[in-house]
Amino acid sequence: MTGWGGVIAAYGHRLPVTSDTPIITLGEGNTPLIPAPHLSALVEREVLLKFEGANPTGSFKDRGMTVAVSKAVEEGAAAVACASTGNTSASAAAYAARAGIGCVVVLPAGKVALGKLAQAVRHGARIVTVSGSFDDALAITIALSRRHGVALVNSINPYRIAGQQSVAWEVADALGRAPAVHALPVGNAGNITATWLGYRAVGLAPAMWGFQAAGAAPIVEGHPVARPETIATAIRIGNPASWQGAVAARDESGGRITAVSDEQILAAYDLLATREGLLVEPASAAGVAGVLANRSVLPDGVVVCTLTGHGLKDPDTAIAGMGIPEPVAATPEAVAEVLGW
Ligand SMILES: *Cc1c(COP(=O)(O)O)cnc(C)c1O
Repeated sequence: MTGWGGVIAAYGHRLPVTSDTPIITLGEGNTPLIPAPHLSALVEREVLLKFEGANPTGSFKDRGMTVAVSKAVEEGAAAVACASTGNTSASAAAYAARAGIGCVVVLPAGKVALGKLAQAVRHGARIVTVSGSFDDALAITIALSRRHGVALVNSINPYRIAGQQSVAWEVADALGRAPAVHALPVGNAGNITATWLGYRAVGLAPAMWGFQAAGAAPIVEGHPVARPETIATAIRIGNPASWQGAVAARDESGGRITAVSDEQILAAYDLLATREGLLVEPASAAGVAGVLANRSVLPDGVVVCTLTGHGLKDPDTAIAGMGIPEPVAATPEAVAEVLGW
């Protein structure tokens, strides 16, 4: 690979890999840290957006998947398996295809955004849809992956968490210090856990601000949620696997984990698209929604928000209620008339 060689090439010295580990990479990481002038003016802080939609499969999941699939291949796995709200399966399917091993994904019925499903199918994963929640799908996948030769690549796989630390290292490298606040959405809570561990590993300590969707906020409520509901399907999780890690990130960093409503998430989603020029998926807007909702308690200093996944993942939400116009005659006059020019 020319230029950037991916997360393991850049940060292998901090990762559980050796010279015997075959590196399965798609050039993930090195995503842009984009200034957000409109948001910065709104919250009176410098806000920077870590655009994880620029990863090869369109979400931050690739950072951990490169390590998890590389280790699975090193350990002789014939296949990887995961439960997923969508992006884990898209990433697992791509890295498994790259490695030439099998991939099985278990999805909750009816709740996976179209783009993510398209990715998993097209990369050749075997897909099983269950009439249940993500939490059900994860329990099933854990039980089945105890068989020989199948590596579980959900974020309870420590190699996933290890690789996902790299987002913090990139922010630290770009800023030369810690931001005051690092905000992000919280679903299964692997990402807040990993981001905090990443900062800690290099001696930095931003306040970690995590945001759950109000209809799927088990950590905020202090108990699992049996039937989580939110438009932000990537964080529609009622019993996070990395619950303890998220609580530790919050408490050790002097941060917070609170809830944002679907209305607040969609308002932030819209603001990012129309004012900052960044189309993200709904879940990815939860961190920005949280910063806006909690602006009165922002400490001084730089605010970094992880925008976890690309908006093209979920075209249905992007287009909902927008009204696609009917065709008119193919003449300048007809088009001018539509435009009122
Ligand atoms: C996986 C995912 C999340 C949630 O991350 P967790 O590690 O499960 O908390 C948020 N947004 C997007 C786009 C995701 O793919």
